[in-house]
Amino acid sequence: MTYYNSIVIHYGEIALKRGKRPYYEKLLKANLEKKLGRKLRRLRGRLVLRLENDDWKTLCEKIQKVFGVVWCAPAIHIKKDIEELERKIIEVLRQENIKSFKISVKRSDKTFPITSIELAENLGRKISNRLNLKVDLENPEKTVYIHITEDGFYLFFDKIAGLGGLPTGSSGKILSLLSGGIDSPVAAWLMMKRGCNVDLLHIHSFLTHDEVMETKIGKIARKLSEYSLGLTLYLASFKPFFLKSFDLPPRMILVSFRAYMIRLADRIARNRGYLGIVTGDSLGQVASQTLENLYAVNAFSQTPIYRPLIGMNKQEIVDLSKKIGTYQLSIEEYRDCCAIIARHPETRADANQLKEIWEKYNLEEAVEETLTNIVEYRI
Ligand code: ATP
Ligand code: MG
Repeated sequence: MTYYNSIVIHYGEIALKRGKRPYYEKLLKANLEKKLGRKLRRLRGRLVLRLENDDWKTLCEKIQKVFGVVWCAPAIHIKKDIEELERKIIEVLRQENIKSFKISVKRSDKTFPITSIELAENLGRKISNRLNLKVDLENPEKTVYIHITEDGFYLFFDKIAGLGGLPTGSSGKILSLLSGGIDSPVAAWLMMKRGCNVDLLHIHSFLTHDEVMETKIGKIARKLSEYSLGLTLYLASFKPFFLKSFDLPPRMILVSFRAYMIRLADRIARNRGYLGIVTGDSLGQVASQTLENLYAVNAFSQTPIYRPLIGMNKQEIVDLSKKIGTYQLSIEEYRDCCAIIARHPETRADANQLKEIWEKYNLEEAVEETLTNIVEYRI
């Protein structure tokens, strides 16, 4: 049975940003409307979706993934009539096999003459008597939420947690280096969470770009796209670098490859207005992720590099990737270009030495050549 005729959507942090509050609210509303293909109503401090023969669960699942939403709840909207409110609550609680409940009232419409506490106490007493249920404020089996808004009462029973964060598009666009590993999708997602429009760059060792879309890379990109309003995946071939790599000192190949990736990302970023580059590096996690190596590689980008996982443990990253839904994809088999080149990599690369190698073997040429054959997939 369903009584619900609405979904109420709440946002937290964006309400704190005082000066920019209307901007954030409008952006979140627009993002949700695009994602759901439906119009929402904006009330004070919340958004409301009217249900029309919809499956509220499917809608809530989509809403949950929209950054900026702190929670949503399927709700019963009724006019401001306390008797009707009481009838509705009784109708719902009667179906439940419970012994205790609690009423939680929030009054956003201060013109409503009864305070939250008065209403909660009053209704609690009446309903408790009618249904022979105990009011338990500490540990109720069911909480009845009543929000008093300028548009009537919203009655609901379950809050479904969202992801918080900031609405997509509120922080500008950024280019995230995506590998087939566990970490980089999490790094991209964390930047999405802070309101960035995130596009992805992947460097691969396949003969054609289209083949890559069939692999986990395509799948991971599609999964990440569920949290955004669509994204661009750039695919670049690793061949120009690979051909040069035979001449390089073996220990320097991996760090040179890192520099090449960063340089490539920097060139694309500057050309297309990305304000930052993102990687999934976590300090000390693998041989190549030492402070020395990160230092040496940073010199190859004028665009700032963000590493949101830098202080995280592997397990924390794994847990997050499971929550995001990329973990199962990340552990699928894949022919990664790093696996082809890495043998005994330099763990403490010297920044000057890396620059010398870059000049001596003209690695900029490999970057140039890669740039001539990049494809974009809109996902
Ligand atoms: P991940 O799990 O993200 O692959 P990792 O611990 O395996 O990370 P590395 O392989 O050292 O780390 O890669 C460090 C970062 O470099 C990755 O997180 C990613 O941002 C970027 N990167 C690595 N390989 C590629 C690639 N083939 N294409 C694009 N970016 C890459
Ligand atoms: Mg990797």
